[in-house]
Amino acid sequence: MDYLGLDRSLLPAARAAALQFGLRVPREYVDRMEKGNPQDPLLLQVLPVGAELELRPGFVLDPVGDLAAAPTASVLHKYQGRALLITTGACAVNCRYCFRRHFPYQESSAYLDRWQSALDYLRRDSSIKEVILSGGDPLMIADSRLAELLRALEAIPHLTRLRIHTRMPVIVPQRITERILGELSQTRLNTTVVIHCNHAKELTPFVGQVLQKLRNSGVTLLNQSVLLKRVNDDLETQVQLCETLFDAQVIPYYLHLLDPVQGGAHFDVSHKEARLLYQLLLQRLPGYLVPKLVYEKSGEASKIPITL
Ligand SMILES: *Cc1c(COP(=O)(O)O)cnc(C)c1O
Ligand code: SF4
Repeated sequence: MDYLGLDRSLLPAARAAALQFGLRVPREYVDRMEKGNPQDPLLLQVLPVGAELELRPGFVLDPVGDLAAAPTASVLHKYQGRALLITTGACAVNCRYCFRRHFPYQESSAYLDRWQSALDYLRRDSSIKEVILSGGDPLMIADSRLAELLRALEAIPHLTRLRIHTRMPVIVPQRITERILGELSQTRLNTTVVIHCNHAKELTPFVGQVLQKLRNSGVTLLNQSVLLKRVNDDLETQVQLCETLFDAQVIPYYLHLLDPVQGGAHFDVSHKEARLLYQLLLQRLPGYLVPKLVYEKSGEASKIPITL
């Protein structure tokens, strides 16, 4: 609080909310925030607040339905042709709106065994062409473990595509080591890195340099973001985000509606508001710069697009 020049009266609520889901934010992300501004869009994403403790009907512990069903399953195979591997449960940052806020399960030392059963699953089903490394954040694991996993995936003949869902290039850009870049440029798998950036202010020049290196290693770069009240739910912020992403060679892929997670209700933007905003966004930007506006519903065979 003192570091950011914020009012200390915010502290008790922050402490109480952090008991439910810990405060976790790297210093260099904090350094991108505007000092003395309690409404800073980066701060709002990570600061525990009292509103998280209020219950709102429809906002539940496990909105996507994955975790309760199989809290230790390491492969989620809900959509045709692609399977999602929960590489680790850990993240470099705790985003307050995250659906995993009630399951901040940490990396287990059983990761190798779990990968074994995950790899067996992927080997057995030849309809799976794409593997998605997700979590948590897959780049929380050590480079050597990541390399080991890549070798095992490359050895599965029917896999042709690799996708890595990570917030690391945005939150901790120095995590993209030469070793990782080398691995990405060498793999036979057609690789896409999907970053998670919600606001143009997150894209510092250093983040831009790291994204350039990723591009130079031959991967496709996409972005997914979450539509968040007060953080990015206005037209200019969305336009700026999409344009800044493209300047950094990243294509906006998905704009997700919030998963209705307990403690996240104060970030909620209604379907109606989202649709209005989206209509304006379509008018402002070329089609290739407009992400797909979607939400997730358990039991469905894909993300569900919001139609005008
Ligand atoms: C979101 C998601 C995917 C990826 O969906 P795409 O539409 O291909 O980006 C895959 N598996 C699971 C379980 C997901 O939740
Ligand atoms: S980085 Fe992604 S998975 Fe991790 S806390 Fe943030 S939104 Fe959740």
